[in-house]
Amino acid sequence: MIKKLLIANRGEIALRIVRACKQLGIATVGVYSTADKDLMHLRFVDEAVCIGNAPSSQSYLDINALLAAAEVTGADAIHPGYGFLSENAEFAEKVEEAGLTFVGPHPEHIRLMGNKVSAINAMKEAGVPTVPGSVGAITLSNAEEQARNIGFPLIVKAAAGGGGRGMRVVERFEELLNQVQAAKTEAQSAFGDDTVYMERFLKNPRHVEVQVLGDGNGNALHLFDRDCSLQRRHQKVLEEAPAPGIPDDVRQPILEACVRACEQIGYRGAGTFEFLYEDGQFFFIEMNTRVQVEHPVTEMITGIDIVVEQLKIAAGYGLSYHQDEITIRGHAIECRINAEDPKTFMPSPGKIQQLFTPSGSGVRFDSHLYQGYTIPTYYDSLIGKLICHAQTRRQAIGKTLHALDELVVEGIKTNIPLHRDVILQDEAFCEEAQNIHYLEGHMLQGN
Ligand code: ADP
Repeated sequence: MIKKLLIANRGEIALRIVRACKQLGIATVGVYSTADKDLMHLRFVDEAVCIGNAPSSQSYLDINALLAAAEVTGADAIHPGYGFLSENAEFAEKVEEAGLTFVGPHPEHIRLMGNKVSAINAMKEAGVPTVPGSVGAITLSNAEEQARNIGFPLIVKAAAGGGGRGMRVVERFEELLNQVQAAKTEAQSAFGDDTVYMERFLKNPRHVEVQVLGDGNGNALHLFDRDCSLQRRHQKVLEEAPAPGIPDDVRQPILEACVRACEQIGYRGAGTFEFLYEDGQFFFIEMNTRVQVEHPVTEMITGIDIVVEQLKIAAGYGLSYHQDEITIRGHAIECRINAEDPKTFMPSPGKIQQLFTPSGSGVRFDSHLYQGYTIPTYYDSLIGKLICHAQTRRQAIGKTLHALDELVVEGIKTNIPLHRDVILQDEAFCEEAQNIHYLEGHMLQGN
């Protein structure tokens, strides 16, 4: 087993990883920036190392600082969490070159999936359906010809894109070249890579994704699916599992195709295949080669601890389950709780004056908050995740609504009112899953 794990992250996911390590008897090393010495998980780790200044580029993104911290503490493995360096192939490579275990996929697979053009090509080869789009990357000289084949509206996307950035919808042929140029410039400055490609812009799809685990030796399994369609600016706000209302004969082939794709490439660790789902059809958009923010909804319906599985796979123990042992039990919903104004979405860092967290059967609150903690201004606004599990979707909604009533976070603004008073009151949403435009197009109107 891994003896001592360095957690190259902060916030709720760092605490989540500590919890998994305690379960497996793995010693832990926490790292923190100068703005983060009061982080909750640092109270529970065996050792803590300051790795640099507040800006992430000088701490959580500093590969040398992280490797040095691993060396001085004698850690034998690194878990990257999500965000930061979690999908950086160079980091994974350097971790392995230093003789440490990287809790994640082979660097070559991070690289393959990190470029969406190569990811889409790999999926086509593996028989996974993709969005009709350009054949590979596009240039200013072949964009028009490719666009004619795709049709309008289409979406120009950065091959290296992430976090909902670097995407532009093009409605008309006349706008195409300007938009391609703008997307390239934006991609270059945001990701240091101006490669872009095009896809048909689907009008009313849902975002449905499949959780997988691979052992790195050609064995893989799926943990069913999640619906993450409620988004603002292409960023997920609420997620649920399983994805509601998908006929079994449509779902099953996709689940199997994802597993097959993992087995073909020898994928190692946890991963997520993201799809758009429209008119009963699935279209692959990208693969994330790390643990997702929304992994708890899958844990609640399958009873499988995904972070524990990541650690066991990294340590060479392989998969703990057979596919036929994994079944869906009930329904789970996750609300992302952000430190932000619920109407303007302006970030709202500051000191937590009062905190009361919900509890009860099937209620889980993954968060690093505590009373008196000051949320720094430097990092993203996610301060917690409320996950509720019940027998049916309706019951999960009811349980979530009540848990949101119990949840008290005072001293800062949060998006709790958005979840409690808008999303979970929306009749159409409570009736059935809605598409990716619904939150912005219907629920936030008038805001
Ligand atoms: P990122 O890596 O930045 O998250 P994705 O490729 O996963 O980018 O897309 C993020 C979101 O953007 C999707 O969940 C969906 O809401 C929207 N989107 C992406 N591609 C398309 C498309 N072809 N048609 C319509 N919406 C899209």
